[in-house]
Amino acid sequence: MAAYCCEVCDYTYDESVGAPREGYPAGTAWTDVPDDWSCPDCGVREKADFIEKRSMA
Ligand SMILES: [Zn+2]
Repeated sequence: MAAYCCEVCDYTYDESVGAPREGYPAGTAWTDVPDDWSCPDCGVREKADFIEKRSMA
């Protein structure tokens, strides 16, 4: 699974963790997150601004 990082505040959305407090349970794919979803930490960056991180596998 992939993880995506906010370039402003370093908040990371990890697909294996999800964002339960935002209503996305663990395992929610990034493609299932709405395009207008914004960063829950800083709120200034939207999904399109997140940068994919390659996790060590
Ligand atoms: Zn952010």
